[in-house]
Amino acid sequence: MSEPLFDRIAIVGIGLLGSSIARKVRADGVARHIAIADHSEAALAEAEELGLGDGYTTDPAEAAAGAALVVSCVPVGAAGSIADAIAPALTSDTLITDTGSVKASVVKQMLPRLPHPECLVPAHPVAGTENSGPSAGFADLFENRWCILTPTEQTDLRALDQVAEFWRLLGSDVETMTAEHHDLVLAITSHLPHLIAYNIVGTADDLEEVTQSEVIKFSAGGFRDFTRLAASDPTMWRDVFLHNREAVLEALGRFSEDLAALQRAIRWGEGDMLHSTFSRTRAIRRGIIDAGQETDAPDFGRRVSKG
Ligand code: NAP
Repeated sequence: MSEPLFDRIAIVGIGLLGSSIARKVRADGVARHIAIADHSEAALAEAEELGLGDGYTTDPAEAAAGAALVVSCVPVGAAGSIADAIAPALTSDTLITDTGSVKASVVKQMLPRLPHPECLVPAHPVAGTENSGPSAGFADLFENRWCILTPTEQTDLRALDQVAEFWRLLGSDVETMTAEHHDLVLAITSHLPHLIAYNIVGTADDLEEVTQSEVIKFSAGGFRDFTRLAASDPTMWRDVFLHNREAVLEALGRFSEDLAALQRAIRWGEGDMLHSTFSRTRAIRRGIIDAGQETDAPDFGRRVSKG
């Protein structure tokens, strides 16, 4: 890339998402200077050892001072405190984006705390793995993955364009929708699957007649793919469920009804119903592969997993 998009950017929260952004920004020269903030001294030390940025601080305002763009990459429940912390350093030229997996709550927390709300362009890169921390990140995490922008009614159009360009330079395909619509869609495509995975792995762990060793030994029977989701960061996912409560409960209600219908079909030997349901869902997976959002490899192609 010839000219950096930004002179200086600040990344607040240097975990999987923050460190992946830092690596890509550095690799492709998207910004000249990367300032990194995190409340964890250990994470900052690890980031410095990995050479992820140019400056490291526990003070988000110090990182944000003079930055053209601040990217908040902390758990959703911390969005408000990050807005409070960076507010004194923001000017009418400082763009703000984030990576939170829930959007309406992030907007609600951040917007009233920002001196220039028109500069906020909330984002959710739909890309991740079950790993956390600075060393978990990698530069091509966002490659060919969606990044959903949820501009508010106050978002300035120029800010939206620049932040969209930033995410495109990171490798993302950008889509725009309202925060509320995002939260409904992600409740069914991401949040509910994680809840089911946490639950089934917990249930298997509790079943006394299935020994621990058998759970692991025969895990390729389907269980293994749930364990990947269920290994996801507990803090991040606690916040997702607490901050997207209504949409998740709605999706969970429908899921429970459909599950009850399957349970009934099994009980009464309704093979046609089971077969037609499973045929419909098989077509959905084919559609995901055709859309380039998963590989068709046996073993689910998850040596480097992207979720
Ligand atoms: P992560 O690896 O746990 O990193 C988050 C970092 O932020 C940690 O270093 C954490 O420190 C730090 N932090 C937490 N609260 C903070 C605060 N108040 N001030 C400063 N630093 C703080 O998490 P992640 O996976 O990168 O996720 C970050 C965000 O991206 C979340 O909102 C998540 O919903 C979203 N997201 C995640 C994925 C995924 O697959 N992981 C995908 C898309 C979007 P401590 O750990 O010491 O608290």
